Amino acid sequence: MAATAAAATAAAATLAAATSSLLRRSPLLRPHALRVSRDFAPRRFARHIASSTNEEAAAKTAAATADTGGPTIFDKIIAKEIPSSIVYEDEKVLAFRDINPQAPVHVLVIPKLRDGLTGLDKAEPRHAEILGQLLYAAKVVAEKEGVADGFRVVINNGAEGCQSVYHLHVHVLGGRQMKWPPG
Ligand code: 5GP
Repeated sequence: MAATAAAATAAAATLAAATSSLLRRSPLLRPHALRVSRDFAPRRFARHIASSTNEEAAAKTAAATADTGGPTIFDKIIAKEIPSSIVYEDEKVLAFRDINPQAPVHVLVIPKLRDGLTGLDKAEPRHAEILGQLLYAAKVVAEKEGVADGFRVVINNGAEGCQSVYHLHVHVLGGRQMKWPPG
């Protein structure tokens, strides 16, 4: 798994270097009329590929112990045993900033009581109320963070969905233009 991540990082770095070199050397690609977009940053692209690969690797590792129902890092955050930057809290829900933000605003909204919800696929009719509360809290967070006009709500589920923490959580992302389709 680490070898795959390293290979992807190396491949991305090679591609980034080759692209940089081509852009530097080819006058056809650098006329005044064809400015290279600030979005096209080879190093950032390489970092993005490496980071995506790491997330996939982390998700696969996490999936191996996912359904043991054991405690996760979020239990420590709920218990305030480890610090987090809390954005919103009520009796049922806690929202805090993601430690590895993927957008200027990146907040995780979680149920304080997991109640079997290691992932959304474990939802049962009895969870309907908390699921609604999580989504409503996501909207409150978006308002508090000043991104209510445009934001994204994501729930990663399972290894293929890139889930790495097995305590249901809603990602609230905003503060930049989102792309579609997602990666
Ligand atoms: P998932 O990959 O399961 O959809 O999302 C889990 C998220 O939890 C990731 O975005 C990751 O950055 C975040 N995360 C993992 N550990 C911590 C932590 O200790 N503190 C905070 N604030 N976020 C965490």
